[in-house]
Amino acid sequence: MQVSGLRKRLFIEGHHIEHWASGGETSLDNLVGLCSHHHRFVHEYGYSIEIDATMKPRFFEPRGRRVVEAPLPPVNAYRGWDIITDANLDLNITSETTVCGWTADRSNTSG
Ligand SMILES: [Zn+2]
Repeated sequence: MQVSGLRKRLFIEGHHIEHWASGGETSLDNLVGLCSHHHRFVHEYGYSIEIDATMKPRFFEPRGRRVVEAPLPPVNAYRGWDIITDANLDLNITSETTVCGWTADRSNTSG
């Protein structure tokens, strides 16, 4: 594949779910394809892989938390803006409240 004049190669490596040194078979049921970048996460950074009942791989970070396919969207914490707004309605705060009223006129200091 030519990308911007550079030759780009993609490598997929077969990873044994149960390591071959521990008796894991070299069979499709015990292999998952990983790019070399993510294969390194399993062997060098403590990540692990399990195959679920539907034969899909599930990935776990070193502390055992599942790595989801895409991060969950952030949920904004409730900050109580409706309560703060209601409590300060009588102040009549608007977008113009903090506008400076100074007109750049010199103050009259002569007398
Ligand atoms: Zn591997």
